[in-house]
Amino acid sequence: MSEKGSGVEQNLWTALHHKVTKPGCSTSYPPDFSTSQYYVALLLHEFFHVMQYRRMGFDRFLTRYGYEMSQHGFDPDRLYDYESRSRTFAQETIERQADMVGVYGGFKFFGDAKGMKALAPRLRGSGVYGF
Ligand SMILES: [Zn+2]
Repeated sequence: MSEKGSGVEQNLWTALHHKVTKPGCSTSYPPDFSTSQYYVALLLHEFFHVMQYRRMGFDRFLTRYGYEMSQHGFDPDRLYDYESRSRTFAQETIERQADMVGVYGGFKFFGDAKGMKALAPRLRGSGVYGF
């Protein structure tokens, strides 16, 4: 990572450490996320949230997140459902954006050219992976 020691990296690792080691959390995570496409996508999803709130500012990020939750009946699953809609990257919810970035990164890391090709048009304007 080029920004070693930067605020972005600190936020990412703090968030990951919290998520991985949160007391009372029943979810277990593998010691090496790079062994699974799912976990690569999850890591990149969370990293993109760090980028989102760096770009938007934390207050705007939380306000938009709350608004989007209310617009989707406070059902978190509906926030991720980007495949059922055809919107530009900027029009997608914060969660959908992060999910597309994560899933694409998982495809890229594991060499799934077909998956990358299918998702690429949805990432236009995202500012990641050269889109
Ligand atoms: Zn998320």
